[in-house]
Amino acid sequence: MRIVLLGAPGSGKGTQAHRLAERSGIPQISTGDLLRAAVTRGSGLGLAAKEAMEGGRLVDDALVLGMIRERLAEPDARAGFILDGFPRNLVQAAELDGLLGELKQPLDAVVQFEVDREELMRRISGRRTCADCGRVFNVLTSPPPSGAAAICPKTGAAHRLVQRADDNEATVAERLRVYEEKTRPLIAFYQSRGLLRVIDAAGEVDAVTQRLARALGLAARAGRNRRARPAVRRAVRAKAAARVVKGRRAATRGAARRKPAGKKPPPRRAPKTRRGAAPKRGGTRRRGRR
Ligand code: ADP
Repeated sequence: MRIVLLGAPGSGKGTQAHRLAERSGIPQISTGDLLRAAVTRGSGLGLAAKEAMEGGRLVDDALVLGMIRERLAEPDARAGFILDGFPRNLVQAAELDGLLGELKQPLDAVVQFEVDREELMRRISGRRTCADCGRVFNVLTSPPPSGAAAICPKTGAAHRLVQRADDNEATVAERLRVYEEKTRPLIAFYQSRGLLRVIDAAGEVDAVTQRLARALGLAARAGRNRRARPAVRRAVRAKAAARVVKGRRAATRGAARRKPAGKKPPPRRAPKTRRGAAPKRGGTRRRGRR
């Protein structure tokens, strides 16, 4: 499975890509995460990307493309990948086409996440990330859970929630503007290639997961192992077939017993009720039960 998730900042691509990656075992490749990691490391790439990111602008295409080229060359991407946040403009989309053509690994689908602007702003303003494991929460719509899930798998302590530097109001407005100008044209680009699928990405996270699974032709129930379905279907069919065979055998045995007797079959007795009394003729069920 080689797919691209398209959508505005806050549309939930990252959350759904993470779930899909866990379910399918295919890596999520998020250019935003890769760039943030480079910034944290203080690498040359990080230093070059930092300013654009903090201003809500796109990072230079050459930097992002170099980074993607390297990431797609890693062994885990051979089984497929979920691209999240890339491509973000037509130059990147054309470059990706060329690269995947060279690798003979064309895209299978591009899913566009549709969410209205008001909801996007609400989601982004409530977004918090665990500084240690990178898990994303939303203090407004999906607060950190209690119990075992509240523990960060990296530190074994509670998640340390921080707000992303570019999730402030001014930067978010610029990111949404950039999305409309540079990224939205990709919808037509992928539509013309017959790859585009659009999903309603508003509402509950689980509901969106199901819509995404359906759009990709996966089992409708989120988190369910796809391979289990044919096995379950086979088991149900085998059970039904066994019932038919059993019924036929019983019928054959009954016929074999009756045939040689050559007598009239005994008169049919009315079935007994639970109390052991035969229901009165013409009585309604209700009366019979009284
Ligand atoms: P969001 O989708 O919420 O804006 P991301 O984590 O995908 O968040 O991206 C954060 C920032 O990283 C972007 O605003 C941009 O500056 C930079 N970035 C991410 N992906 C790309 C890309 N493909 N091309 C250019 N810049 C990118």
